[in-house]
Amino acid sequence: MATSSVRMPSEFSNPNLEVLLSEQQLQTRIKELGAEITRDYAGLNPLLIGVLKGACFFLSDLLRAIDTRLSIEFMAISSYGSSTRTSGEVRIMKDLDVPIEGRHILVVEDIVDTGLTLSYLLANLKSRGAASVKLAALLDKHERREKDVKIDYLGFPIPDYFVVGYGLDFAERYRNLPFIAVLKNPETAS
Ligand code: 5GP
Repeated sequence: MATSSVRMPSEFSNPNLEVLLSEQQLQTRIKELGAEITRDYAGLNPLLIGVLKGACFFLSDLLRAIDTRLSIEFMAISSYGSSTRTSGEVRIMKDLDVPIEGRHILVVEDIVDTGLTLSYLLANLKSRGAASVKLAALLDKHERREKDVKIDYLGFPIPDYFVVGYGLDFAERYRNLPFIAVLKNPETAS
Protein backbone atom coordinates (compact mmCIF):
# COMPACT_ATOMS: atom_id res chain seq x y z
CA MET A 1 0.00 0.00 0.00
CA ALA A 2 1.31 3.49 -0.85
CA THR A 3 2.30 5.57 2.16
CA SER A 4 0.93 9.07 2.44
CA SER A 5 2.52 12.04 4.19
CA VAL A 6 -0.93 13.12 5.50
CA ARG A 7 -1.47 11.81 9.05
CA MET A 8 -5.02 10.60 9.72
CA PRO A 9 -6.26 11.38 13.25
CA SER A 10 -6.41 8.39 15.60
CA GLU A 11 -9.91 7.35 16.62
CA PHE A 12 -8.65 5.43 19.66
CA SER A 13 -6.97 8.51 21.15
CA ASN A 14 -9.64 10.99 20.06
CA PRO A 15 -9.57 13.94 22.56
CA ASN A 16 -13.38 13.94 22.73
CA LEU A 17 -13.25 10.55 24.51
CA GLU A 18 -12.48 9.79 28.14
CA VAL A 19 -11.80 6.11 28.85
CA LEU A 20 -14.20 4.72 31.46
CA LEU A 21 -13.38 1.00 31.16
CA SER A 22 -10.14 -0.18 29.60
CA GLU A 23 -9.79 -3.12 27.23
CA GLN A 24 -8.07 -5.04 30.02
CA GLN A 25 -10.89 -4.37 32.51
CA LEU A 26 -13.51 -5.48 29.96
CA GLN A 27 -11.71 -8.68 29.04
CA THR A 28 -10.99 -9.66 32.66
CA ARG A 29 -14.63 -9.19 33.70
CA ILE A 30 -15.95 -11.00 30.61
CA LYS A 31 -13.80 -14.04 31.43
CA GLU A 32 -15.31 -14.09 34.95
CA LEU A 33 -18.84 -13.88 33.54
CA GLY A 34 -18.02 -16.66 31.07
CA ALA A 35 -16.84 -18.93 33.89
CA GLU A 36 -20.04 -18.23 35.86
CA ILE A 37 -22.25 -18.93 32.82
CA THR A 38 -20.28 -22.13 32.08
CA ARG A 39 -21.10 -23.41 35.57
CA ASP A 40 -24.77 -22.36 35.49
CA TYR A 41 -25.58 -23.68 32.01
CA ALA A 42 -23.55 -26.92 31.90
CA GLY A 43 -25.63 -29.54 30.08
CA LEU A 44 -28.49 -27.13 29.26
CA ASN A 45 -27.44 -26.33 25.68
CA PRO A 46 -28.39 -22.64 26.02
CA LEU A 47 -29.31 -20.35 23.14
CA LEU A 48 -27.54 -17.01 23.44
CA ILE A 49 -29.39 -14.19 21.71
CA GLY A 50 -27.34 -11.13 20.80
CA VAL A 51 -29.12 -7.85 20.29
CA LEU A 52 -27.80 -6.10 17.16
CA LYS A 53 -25.73 -4.18 16.62
CA GLY A 54 -24.23 -3.05 19.91
CA ALA A 55 -23.98 -6.41 21.70
CA CYS A 56 -21.99 -8.16 18.94
CA PHE A 57 -18.62 -7.38 20.48
CA PHE A 58 -19.63 -8.41 24.00
CA LEU A 59 -21.33 -11.55 22.66
CA SER A 60 -18.31 -12.55 20.62
CA ASP A 61 -15.89 -12.25 23.56
CA LEU A 62 -18.36 -13.77 26.05
CA LEU A 63 -18.99 -16.81 23.81
CA ARG A 64 -15.31 -17.64 23.75
CA ALA A 65 -15.23 -17.56 27.55
CA ILE A 66 -18.11 -20.06 27.90
CA ASP A 67 -16.93 -23.65 27.87
CA THR A 68 -20.13 -25.61 27.33
CA ARG A 69 -22.24 -26.57 24.30
CA LEU A 70 -24.38 -23.64 23.11
CA SER A 71 -25.80 -21.93 20.05
CA ILE A 72 -26.36 -18.30 19.08
CA GLU A 73 -28.99 -16.20 17.34
CA PHE A 74 -29.39 -12.49 16.68
CA MET A 75 -32.29 -10.08 16.98
CA ALA A 76 -32.50 -6.47 15.89
CA ILE A 77 -34.70 -4.09 17.76
CA SER A 78 -35.38 -0.48 17.08
CA SER A 79 -36.37 1.85 19.84
CA TYR A 80 -37.41 5.32 18.90
CA GLY A 81 -36.11 8.51 20.45
CA SER A 82 -33.30 11.01 20.11
CA SER A 83 -29.75 9.90 19.36
CA THR A 84 -28.90 9.61 23.05
CA ARG A 85 -32.23 8.69 24.69
CA THR A 86 -34.82 5.94 24.10
CA SER A 87 -38.53 6.78 23.84
CA GLY A 88 -39.83 3.38 24.94
CA GLU A 89 -41.52 2.51 21.65
CA VAL A 90 -39.97 -0.78 20.57
CA ARG A 91 -40.20 -2.74 17.33
CA ILE A 92 -38.56 -6.05 16.29
CA MET A 93 -36.68 -5.41 13.03
CA LYS A 94 -35.06 -8.85 12.79
CA ASP A 95 -36.64 -11.79 14.55
CA LEU A 96 -35.21 -15.19 15.49
CA ASP A 97 -34.82 -17.84 12.80
CA VAL A 98 -35.66 -20.71 15.20
CA PRO A 99 -38.44 -21.58 17.67
CA ILE A 100 -37.36 -21.28 21.31
CA GLU A 101 -39.98 -23.40 23.04
CA GLY A 102 -38.33 -25.42 25.81
CA ARG A 103 -34.91 -23.74 25.28
CA HIS A 104 -32.80 -22.02 27.90
CA ILE A 105 -32.36 -18.48 26.60
CA LEU A 106 -29.64 -16.04 27.59
CA VAL A 107 -30.14 -12.59 26.08
CA VAL A 108 -26.87 -10.70 25.62
CA GLU A 109 -27.15 -6.92 25.60
CA ASP A 110 -24.62 -4.08 25.65
CA ILE A 111 -26.29 -1.69 28.09
CA VAL A 112 -29.46 -1.41 30.15
CA ASP A 113 -30.52 2.22 30.49
CA THR A 114 -34.24 2.95 31.08
CA GLY A 115 -34.93 -0.80 30.75
CA LEU A 116 -37.77 -0.18 28.29
CA THR A 117 -36.17 -2.12 25.41
CA LEU A 118 -35.15 -5.11 27.51
CA SER A 119 -38.38 -5.42 29.48
CA TYR A 120 -40.26 -5.59 26.17
CA LEU A 121 -37.82 -8.12 24.68
CA LEU A 122 -37.66 -10.40 27.73
CA ALA A 123 -41.47 -10.51 28.03
CA ASN A 124 -41.73 -11.25 24.30
CA LEU A 125 -39.28 -14.17 24.56
CA LYS A 126 -40.96 -15.59 27.69
CA SER A 127 -44.30 -15.60 25.86
CA ARG A 128 -42.81 -17.98 23.26
CA GLY A 129 -42.53 -20.82 25.78
CA ALA A 130 -38.81 -20.78 26.57
CA ALA A 131 -37.76 -22.99 29.51
CA SER A 132 -35.91 -20.01 31.00
CA VAL A 133 -35.01 -16.48 29.92
CA LYS A 134 -32.08 -14.71 31.55
CA LEU A 135 -30.09 -11.59 30.78
CA ALA A 136 -26.38 -10.84 30.50
CA ALA A 137 -25.63 -7.12 30.14
CA LEU A 138 -22.20 -5.56 29.93
CA LEU A 139 -23.24 -2.19 31.41
CA ASP A 140 -26.00 -1.02 33.74
CA LYS A 141 -27.03 2.64 34.13
CA HIS A 142 -29.23 1.90 37.10
CA GLU A 143 -30.04 5.54 37.95
CA ARG A 144 -31.97 5.87 34.70
CA ARG A 145 -34.21 2.83 35.17
CA GLU A 146 -37.92 3.28 34.39
CA LYS A 147 -38.85 -0.41 34.04
CA ASP A 148 -37.53 -3.08 36.37
CA VAL A 149 -35.20 -5.48 34.57
CA LYS A 150 -33.34 -8.29 36.34
CA ILE A 151 -29.76 -8.53 35.10
CA ASP A 152 -28.55 -12.06 35.87
CA TYR A 153 -24.96 -11.50 34.67
CA LEU A 154 -23.68 -7.93 34.87
CA GLY A 155 -20.35 -6.63 33.63
CA PHE A 156 -20.20 -3.20 35.26
CA PRO A 157 -22.59 -0.71 36.88
CA ILE A 158 -21.86 2.78 35.46
CA PRO A 159 -23.05 6.33 36.25
CA ASP A 160 -25.44 8.20 33.97
CA TYR A 161 -22.97 9.07 31.20
CA PHE A 162 -23.51 8.60 27.49
CA VAL A 163 -20.87 6.01 26.60
CA VAL A 164 -19.43 4.73 23.32
CA GLY A 165 -17.05 2.02 22.21
CA TYR A 166 -16.87 -1.78 22.28
CA GLY A 167 -20.02 -1.93 20.12
CA LEU A 168 -21.78 1.16 21.43
CA ASP A 169 -22.14 3.99 18.93
CA PHE A 170 -22.98 7.62 18.51
CA ALA A 171 -24.56 8.01 15.06
CA GLU A 172 -22.87 4.70 14.03
CA ARG A 173 -19.41 5.98 15.02
CA TYR A 174 -17.06 4.63 17.72
CA ARG A 175 -18.26 0.99 17.73
CA ASN A 176 -14.71 -0.14 16.92
CA LEU A 177 -13.07 1.23 20.07
CA PRO A 178 -11.66 -1.67 22.14
CA PHE A 179 -12.63 0.17 25.36
CA ILE A 180 -15.68 2.00 26.75
CA ALA A 181 -15.42 5.78 26.81
CA VAL A 182 -17.52 8.75 27.82
CA LEU A 183 -18.29 11.08 24.96
CA LYS A 184 -17.31 14.48 26.34
CA ASN A 185 -19.08 16.63 23.79
CA PRO A 186 -21.79 14.86 21.72
CA GLU A 187 -22.39 18.05 19.69
CA THR A 188 -19.06 17.66 17.90
CA ALA A 189 -18.91 13.85 17.91
CA SER A 190 -20.48 12.45 14.74
P1 5GP B 1 -33.13 1.32 27.25
O1 5GP B 1 -34.34 0.78 26.56
O2 5GP B 1 -32.64 0.47 28.38
O3 5GP B 1 -33.32 2.75 27.67
O4 5GP B 1 -32.01 1.47 26.16
C1 5GP B 1 -31.25 0.45 25.68
C2 5GP B 1 -30.55 0.87 24.42
O5 5GP B 1 -30.31 2.30 24.37
C3 5GP B 1 -29.20 0.24 24.37
O6 5GP B 1 -29.25 -1.05 23.79
C4 5GP B 1 -28.41 1.21 23.54
O7 5GP B 1 -28.62 0.94 22.17
C5 5GP B 1 -29.02 2.57 23.86
N1 5GP B 1 -28.24 3.26 24.90
C6 5GP B 1 -28.58 3.50 26.18
N2 5GP B 1 -27.61 4.16 26.85
C7 5GP B 1 -26.60 4.31 25.96
C8 5GP B 1 -25.29 4.90 26.05
O8 5GP B 1 -24.82 5.42 27.08
N3 5GP B 1 -24.54 4.87 24.92
C9 5GP B 1 -24.97 4.33 23.73
N4 5GP B 1 -24.15 4.36 22.69
N5 5GP B 1 -26.20 3.76 23.62
C10 5GP B 1 -27.00 3.75 24.72
